[in-house]
Amino acid sequence: MASEETFMRAPAPTPKRTIYTEAMEIFHFAADLIGLDKRVRLELEEPDYEHIFYVTAKLKDRLVPLLPEEAKTFADLPVTQVRNPEGLERLANGNLILNGRALLGSDVAIRHGHLRLPDGLVYQLVPGESQRFKAYRVQHNQARGPYKGGLRYHREVSLDLFKALAAEMTWKTAIAEVPFGGGKGGIQLDPREYGREEIEAITLRFMYRLKSLIGPNIDIPAPDVGTNPEIMALLYRQFSDGERERHNLRGIVTGKDVRIGGSEGRGKATGQGVAFCIEDYYADRGESVKGKTFVLQGFGNVGSHAAIILSNMGARLLAVNDADGSVFNGDGIDVNALAAYVADPKNLKRSVIGFPGAQRIEKKDLWDVQADILVPAALGGEITADVAERLKVKLIAEGANGPTTPEADRVLQKRGIELIPDIIANAGGVTVSYYEWIQNKRMERWSEAEVDQRLERAMKRNYRIIRDISRNQPRKTEMHDSRPYCIGKTVDSRCAAMILALKRIEAHYLLEGFSQ
Ligand code: NAD
Repeated sequence: MASEETFMRAPAPTPKRTIYTEAMEIFHFAADLIGLDKRVRLELEEPDYEHIFYVTAKLKDRLVPLLPEEAKTFADLPVTQVRNPEGLERLANGNLILNGRALLGSDVAIRHGHLRLPDGLVYQLVPGESQRFKAYRVQHNQARGPYKGGLRYHREVSLDLFKALAAEMTWKTAIAEVPFGGGKGGIQLDPREYGREEIEAITLRFMYRLKSLIGPNIDIPAPDVGTNPEIMALLYRQFSDGERERHNLRGIVTGKDVRIGGSEGRGKATGQGVAFCIEDYYADRGESVKGKTFVLQGFGNVGSHAAIILSNMGARLLAVNDADGSVFNGDGIDVNALAAYVADPKNLKRSVIGFPGAQRIEKKDLWDVQADILVPAALGGEITADVAERLKVKLIAEGANGPTTPEADRVLQKRGIELIPDIIANAGGVTVSYYEWIQNKRMERWSEAEVDQRLERAMKRNYRIIRDISRNQPRKTEMHDSRPYCIGKTVDSRCAAMILALKRIEAHYLLEGFSQ
């Protein structure tokens, strides 16, 4: 029998506060509270594997617009009439990608590498060069099943961030009761600065490097910020290319288009899960979502679906913030019209800014909007202590991962603002990813109603267990059994969610033992 000393924790590699150490505060707090087995704690407090690698791709020629001042030198430069305007792809930053032979057959007037297009602007022709991108995959834990977690394409990513997000997936998959562990990864790039074919080349090369690290029964990526079903399709193609049993490999990624093995209901699943939690929160109080008001941050996959579903339930959206700004309408924003506005191909930034059915406000004013609910569905760390002091909402349902800092958590508790923590609130995505994975394995196809029904049960059952842990109310109902998880005293909801995750993960180690 090994002595306690054998399990001494290794000294922390760095005493500095990072996104990861912040994210793990709640883990350590809950682990202390439940007296988590010491060796299990060592297994969980750092990831199993941290992969960093590099991806290179050849970029295309592009046209970069000059500032009006710089363009004056070219005042008499004639307009180039482009024969094949289809070949020009405009990016959100105003640059144009030259796809194929966009200028072939055109009367091109170039001076010192500059030309003027029919829009009147002068552009510098920048030849495409190869570029290197930093890529990551963190595999946090697989005690309960294969690593599972999204791929993020974003400028602000780091190993530290992916460690935090991968650990979150370990807790989330345990809470959602799906047989997976936690992983996360992605590439450091702003996808809005690259053309469609460039993103394809980068994605294929990314999977070329990733392939030896993952598999449908080893590690299963999904979409996250900046990635989508199109990117999942490319990843599947690259992973399965030339394989003898390529159709058995369809479960290598989830979040695919339904036409190629994706699940009905996966696109909206995370937003749907957020809405189910909010619905259950009010049902528990004998109230309904109908007539409630909400403020939203992020109008991408999670935010837009949550908004549409909540508004279908009768709630009113008052304000939205995204990467480009914020809009407000005190009478309520027409969510379907906003979704159509953001999805319009002419809206290059895919932003809510400029939406005619609302007025523009400053981001700082968003936090002052009085409403029942706030749904953060953008990036992490947005609700700081300062923001938490200002908020005029009664409930926060975390659609995003890690949107609230630990200091902000303390402020929210002090102010009595209630919280549905991320690891349950946004677990709908990974839950339906699991349904997609099973359907792929069984070569089945479930209807949207079937998926929604299963999701609703799973979300509400596990959210009720978390509420019971929080209130220290052990009980067994037809839907759920919280008796094995309550700890004999009340705790806040974030801690309750972590307790549920840790008890479920710990059971695997304690019952199965450790491989040597
Ligand atoms: P997305 O790329 O579809 O949308 C992101 C949204 O956030 C966009 O509206 C963007 O404008 C906005 N945004 C980006 N930077 C911002 C900033 N600095 N300030 C304000 N807004 C900003 O991403 P998504 O898939 O909707 O993911 C949103 C969040 O939900 C992320 O935290 C993600 O990890 C989490 N999440 C996503 C899923 C999923 O299934 N997609 C599942 C669980 C959790």
